[in-house]
Order: sequence, then C-alpha cells, then structure tokens
Amino acid sequence: MSEATRSGGCLCGGVRYTVAWPLQMLVTCSCTNCQKQSGSALSVVGVVARDDLALSGTLATFTDRADSGNAVYRQFCNRCGSPVLTDTDAARAQGIIFFKAGTLDRTDDLDPATHMWTRSAQGWMVFPDHHAKLPEQQDETDGKA
Ligand SMILES: [Zn+2]
Ligand SMILES: [Zn+2]
Repeated sequence: MSEATRSGGCLCGGVRYTVAWPLQMLVTCSCTNCQKQSGSALSVVGVVARDDLALSGTLATFTDRADSGNAVYRQFCNRCGSPVLTDTDAARAQGIIFFKAGTLDRTDDLDPATHMWTRSAQGWMVFPDHHAKLPEQQDETDGKA
C-alpha cells in the first residue's frame, strides 16, 4: 500500500504536521540564508499544496528577504527553534507552501532531484550527476526556501 500522507514535526514535538504524500516537489537549497537558518549545509525543502498541510503547535516567524527584496517568512518552533515552514507571498498566490523535509519522521527514502543555489554550496557537497543543479533560484517561488 502506498502512503497517502506523511508526518513530521520539530525536535521538541511541540509542532506536528501531516502532508499529502508523495510531495509535489522535493529540492535542496544551499543558499547562504538556508545554511544560516539550519546551521547545516543546506535545507531539504518539500513543496505541498497549502490545503494538503495540516499543522498543530506554535510557530514563530522570522521575516527574511530574498535577493529580490521580497519577504520570505521563515517559521520555526517557538520552543526548540527547529525550522518547519517557509512561506512567501508568491507561494500564497500559487496555493503552495514549503516545509523543511528534514523534519519528517521518515527521511531515509527522500530523493530531492533538484538542487538550488549550488553556487553557494559548501565545497564538500557532491550532488548526484543525474540531478538538476541550479546555480541560483530560477523559478517563480521567489525565495530562498
Ligand atoms: Zn519544537
Ligand atoms: Zn535556501
């Protein structure tokens, strides 16, 4: 049986969510803002329809800025700080939202096929040859997700 949903949450468990599965899209983002926010090499970013995300718990929001100057709403658990959601006005207009797929309860089978902002990727990162690599962000989502 294939999954219809998958669940995840923040480190402390205060924020929990369920998303429709499979995802619309799964990418990584190596922009410097994602590196700062995650304290890691990159963000693993899932894309879902807003209606396909159910979330409980309390998120705090940091309003980041894309290179375009547009707002990027980075939402994280107000208790443990785990980044959970990223939202933009463009995403709202499209009816989608981004979430940090590293917070899923199961991550071993994730296979992000597109890698964004590889221009600023840490030097040791090796992306699979058959995956798409975008030096920056080249879609309408307008962000550093
Ligand atoms: Zn938490
Ligand atoms: Zn990013």
